[in-house]
Amino acid sequence: MKQLIFPFLVGLACQTIANAQDSGFSEEMITAAELSNYERTSTFAEVLSVVDALQASSELLHRETLVTSLEGKNVPLLVLADPPIRTPEAARDSGKLVVYIQGNIHGGEIEGKEASLIAMREILLGDKKHFLENQIVLFLPVYNSDGNDQMTDDSRPSQEMSPLLAGQRSAHGYDLNRDGMIIDTIETAALYENVIQRWDPDLFVDLHTTNGTWHGYSLTYAPSYHTAGDAAPSDYTSEVMLPAIRQSVKEKFNLDFNWYGGFDYRDWPPTELRTYHHAPRYLTNNMGLRNRMAILSETFAHDRFYKRVHAANAFVNEILEYSNAHASEIREINRQADMRVVEQIELSAGSYQNGVQFEMVALEEPLDLLSYKYIPYIADDGSQKFVRSSEIVEIKGVQNFNAFEAVKSATVPVAYVFPADFEVLAAKLGQHGVEVSRLGQDQEFSGESFRVTEIEKQNFVQNNHRNSRLLGSFESEVKSFSAGDYYVAMNNRLANLIFYLLEPEADDGLAYWNLFDDYLERELENSTSAKYPVFKVLAR
Ligand SMILES: [Zn+2]
Repeated sequence: MKQLIFPFLVGLACQTIANAQDSGFSEEMITAAELSNYERTSTFAEVLSVVDALQASSELLHRETLVTSLEGKNVPLLVLADPPIRTPEAARDSGKLVVYIQGNIHGGEIEGKEASLIAMREILLGDKKHFLENQIVLFLPVYNSDGNDQMTDDSRPSQEMSPLLAGQRSAHGYDLNRDGMIIDTIETAALYENVIQRWDPDLFVDLHTTNGTWHGYSLTYAPSYHTAGDAAPSDYTSEVMLPAIRQSVKEKFNLDFNWYGGFDYRDWPPTELRTYHHAPRYLTNNMGLRNRMAILSETFAHDRFYKRVHAANAFVNEILEYSNAHASEIREINRQADMRVVEQIELSAGSYQNGVQFEMVALEEPLDLLSYKYIPYIADDGSQKFVRSSEIVEIKGVQNFNAFEAVKSATVPVAYVFPADFEVLAAKLGQHGVEVSRLGQDQEFSGESFRVTEIEKQNFVQNNHRNSRLLGSFESEVKSFSAGDYYVAMNNRLANLIFYLLEPEADDGLAYWNLFDDYLERELENSTSAKYPVFKVLAR
């Protein structure tokens, strides 16, 4: 018996090794991080060389250029599909889900870049080919390409020299993850044009690393926060998809992932975990206004580099495993949201309200929080201080502030109209993919104007802006506009985005990003109030 079975087993073993060799990973496909035993992260050129090697070995990879950076780097966008896909039209015809994964929006947060390269290699030439059964996967390993290459030893101080050198957070002075509304940078403009509008991904994954609170997780996540957008894509992400992925990561890799958030250790033990912000200047939140799903991923800076890459890679793999298995469900939820948004405008625009300002609230369900333990002690000067121990403990029943509720609302109009002088505004809306038309003849509209009484400048600078909050009130008006003035109809799937961009009181709208300051300041020089130049049409 033994003699019969033994050769058979040997045969199998040989075949397995032969297959591994057939998979044909060449040295060029191994990342700089892997080759250096995680002492280095990839430069932009090293990313390109891995991408070149993958492209030369697989016909399933189609390559486009997202943007040419200010320093002249052609940032690659990689489209992985089986059979190969070269155009968005072919992607749409295939009926497959489109998933978009980006790394390095913050140039020092390098884990997503390395994990993306590894994931692409495994999908194209390794054991993850099945990810392409029901979906097309777009990878952008290095979004902030110039920031990536400005490597210094002090850009990520809490990473304890693991690796020693990492890039800079911003791209030429701009934080690309605060630019989602005003679009000051060529990167955001290119992202919207060449990814969001061109490929229309159903799921957007943004890979970061946090160096905030010392929680006890390998990775924390957040959905696109639900604000003025349709709730269903966001709710599905947070209530169905992320819990399932969290569980599979625990089962397969024994890694603990959970909601993003921080706490003040001086209130030890913490009773609240609080997340960051709902505003759509953050790209993942922006996707919610477009009826699409998004996931923010934050590996944990206090882990060693190889562990951070592993966590990011495990997350990417389990997201793609999940989205491949639930491709039609995800598409269907987003398409339903598209239809619901249009339907609501057609049925009741002018007579219902949506949120323009929001506050953070706790989810119904508290969480059991893993955290490094803090030990209070009385210092020699008599004050209470804390020291962090190396033990990770579980704190039961922590309030999870990971949702948002409207604290101020405004009426959703049938359309917005503004004068021909504001071509900058028309162009800005165009960059967001919003259709703007011009009036063919003089026309009178019934609706409301916002009378601005004060521009309240924020007392901090954010992304080179001192943001403005417009104070004032709405008043009913019948107003005449001229041929050539701009008209933005709301009966399309981007209605919630248009609303958030154009509402004068929106807490992250174009007014907040100073687009109307020059005009309004001039008007307010000689008067106690000024009319916000965008008129709301309430009656059809
Ligand atoms: Zn970040």
